[in-house]
Amino acid sequence: MIPLTLHPDRLFPADPATRNLARRLYDSVAALPIVSPHGHTDPAWFAQDLPFADAAALFITPDHYVFRMLYSQGIPLESLGIPRRDGGPVETDARKIWRTFAAHYHLFRGTPTRTWLDHAFATVFGFDERLTAESADRYFDRINACLAQPAFRPRALFERFNIEVLATTESPLDPLAQHRDLRASGWAGRVITAYRPDAVVDPAFEGFAANVAELGRLTGQNTATWRGYLAAHRARREYFRAMGATSTDHGHPTARTSDLDAGTCQRLLDRALAGTISDEEAEAFRGQVLTEMAGMSRDDGLVMQIHPGSVRNHNADVFARFGRDKGADIPAPTDYVGALRPLLERHGNARDLTLILFTLDETSYARELAPLAGHYPILRVGPPWWFHDSYEGMLRFFSQVIETAGFYNTVGFNDDTRAFMSIPARHDVWRRVACRFLAQAVVEHRFDEDEAFELAPELAHGLAKRAYRL
Ligand SMILES: [Zn+2]
Repeated sequence: MIPLTLHPDRLFPADPATRNLARRLYDSVAALPIVSPHGHTDPAWFAQDLPFADAAALFITPDHYVFRMLYSQGIPLESLGIPRRDGGPVETDARKIWRTFAAHYHLFRGTPTRTWLDHAFATVFGFDERLTAESADRYFDRINACLAQPAFRPRALFERFNIEVLATTESPLDPLAQHRDLRASGWAGRVITAYRPDAVVDPAFEGFAANVAELGRLTGQNTATWRGYLAAHRARREYFRAMGATSTDHGHPTARTSDLDAGTCQRLLDRALAGTISDEEAEAFRGQVLTEMAGMSRDDGLVMQIHPGSVRNHNADVFARFGRDKGADIPAPTDYVGALRPLLERHGNARDLTLILFTLDETSYARELAPLAGHYPILRVGPPWWFHDSYEGMLRFFSQVIETAGFYNTVGFNDDTRAFMSIPARHDVWRRVACRFLAQAVVEHRFDEDEAFELAPELAHGLAKRAYRL
């Protein structure tokens, strides 16, 4: 058997003095509770607290990081049990799916997915041998045996992971039944929602016109009028707030914002609903909604997040056969300085608004995001996201952002995950890399050790909690 060991000094620098300080800083924050203010876990897990089905359903089928890599090496998504849109046949034998994954586990060497999976295998399921084709069945059997036990139900794991608060994201069309059940259940775990209105904001979203009509039905507003459309957003935001939401989230192709007159907004809405809107008009429409959302946030206090720059469903064939979120979203260059200006002209100096900016375009960190957040009171730089939520990605973030924005214009960490088992691993990587960065700064006398010991818990816990008003 090949051993699986999580080295206690992993991700720390090799130089003994820096390593020693990084370790002491890490020891001071390792046990702090997890604040997870943005992510995509399923609230039904915590509302219903049913056992996870099996190892494949837990680690493979819901995780696009896993199957995009396997797909890139020629493994058909059907063989991994990814459901087809047309209901056609896909592999349903979980053990077979697991064996395919295990036989290709070497593909993940050097990726954060490998780090997260090994962390979960070792700390959650107690494995001390590496996942290989040879150990695949032992893994599958032990994980499944664990999942049948009460200690591996979602709520028990939530408590074991020491999660203080976890946000999911839901569409305005979601009745939030799971969140309602959660709140009524008496369970002490804090799982809250976040307002993610892309389905009724993006004219290119599947079923946009029907979605906007449904928004009208839910709120009693005439959403074919610009005024009614905005009123419907206000009403749903209020409902989300009542279900614990402290934030909104906007996943747009770009960071474009607009500040248009009401007549133009009505014309754009008309065309969006009729399906005759051009790409440029759709950009203007999405951008207008961002500016409107900023105004609403000033009224209702919801913290705003923009996650731009992902070209969604880049692979038309995979989208046609399997639908969205199948690992075919690819980053594109993203402009913030010009794109955010209309919103900033209207709201940039407000004292009652927080707007957290994320990027998939790392060239924007030092050039745009850090200078913007280092000036405008409403702006904060979100942590490394998606492809950059990794050891090297975090180091690039710290080295490019902190000198201009400072630590206090950042917001700690988001795990932004659908993979529940990866949450402790992702926060652990962040804490280790943050402590590594702080230790390096101290040994180079850029600031003092007592300041590093003050910053470490801020980066692990405090900044996220305050930025998201948790
Ligand atoms: Zn997200």
